[in-house]
Amino acid sequence: MSFSLAIVGRPNVGKSTLFNRLVGKRLALVDDQPGVTRDLREGAARLGDLRFTVIDTAGLEEATDESLQGRMRKLTERAVDMADICLFLIDARVGVTPADEVLAEILRKRATHVILGANKAEGNAAEAGVLEAYALGLGEPLRISAEHGEGMPDLYAMLQPLADAF
Ligand code: GDP
Ligand code: MG
Repeated sequence: MSFSLAIVGRPNVGKSTLFNRLVGKRLALVDDQPGVTRDLREGAARLGDLRFTVIDTAGLEEATDESLQGRMRKLTERAVDMADICLFLIDARVGVTPADEVLAEILRKRATHVILGANKAEGNAAEAGVLEAYALGLGEPLRISAEHGEGMPDLYAMLQPLADAF
């Protein structure tokens, strides 16, 4: 069986970078996906021997009448409801922001399986941010670097036992 993984988080934490890494060139054309708008990009992901659907909460950067906060909440809720597992990314170089805290609360209330990812964790500029992430109440943060491909074996190790459940 396969599962779906939604990558959620505020703008600029590296969601699309990770999405692209997991999907490679296998991006599903969003127009071919009934029920999926361009705000939620779907692709066929591969990580080790795992095959799954990954959802990127894109569309946060577009200017609309609605506040970023409201849009972020709505899109995140939709992604959470669509997906079996959520990967919540923060930017470990920036640390935990108020927007991260809002999203963490949605996830604590609404999502069944949440993996907390502290992205941009390459090098040693990220340690303080990783430690801050523990306070989000979503378990131990996974140190990853979407850009440099670090932490992928740890992500695999988190997903693999969950994958068996779906
Ligand atoms: P999104 O808005 O959450 O989709 O974030 P993007 O994937 O567009 O990335 C935002 C910025 O962070 C871009 O400039 C990326 O190159 C950068 N970025 C993404 N992942 C990493 C990472 O692991 N390390 C560093 N240093 N930068 C990253
Ligand atoms: Mg993006």
